[in-house]
Amino acid sequence: MLKERGLRHLSTGDLLRAAVREGTPLGREAKTYMDAGDLVPDAVVIGMIREALTGRTDDFMLDGFPRTLGQAEALDAMLDGVGAPIDAVISFEVPRDELVRRLGGRWTCRGCGRSFHEVSSPYGGEPCGATGAGCDLHQRDDDRPEAVANRLDVYDAQTAPLIGYYEARGLLRTVDGAAPADVVQAQVVQAIP
Ligand SMILES: [Zn+2]
Repeated sequence: MLKERGLRHLSTGDLLRAAVREGTPLGREAKTYMDAGDLVPDAVVIGMIREALTGRTDDFMLDGFPRTLGQAEALDAMLDGVGAPIDAVISFEVPRDELVRRLGGRWTCRGCGRSFHEVSSPYGGEPCGATGAGCDLHQRDDDRPEAVANRLDVYDAQTAPLIGYYEARGLLRTVDGAAPADVVQAQVVQAIP
């Protein structure tokens, strides 16, 4: 059982933000798309995932990838090449107005990088992990209201078709993403074979 062996978490958001922070050519290119709430081009994301998977034989969970049919097909080709099929695909279902509320209320510290949320985890004035003074909060460009609306439109147009793609192969598991965090976690564990 996968969940008893432990899964490495591979998040394209984390990989991209690290590249942006380090100012790599890839990171600089990606940032212009991320700031507008647009998808980073397939070629850039696919290259990053291929790099992260090269030489690894452990089990992993991809977070934020694939987001387009092109990425899904590239992933199939990569996994075919190493004989490691997909075990399950988890779809988190959340009503759109709830997504707007969640994504719109997030604030991130420039110093320590921690994220806070107006509703679920407001900043309480604790000292910053980086400076020891108060956290220096700002709203990431892709968390601003206009970028949030655009991200959801992009999801509907480019990512939602993946639901049918994986459902047709019997891989899709659905989780109620609007439930409390402990319930979501239990559903995710249940969904992993
Ligand atoms: Zn901080």
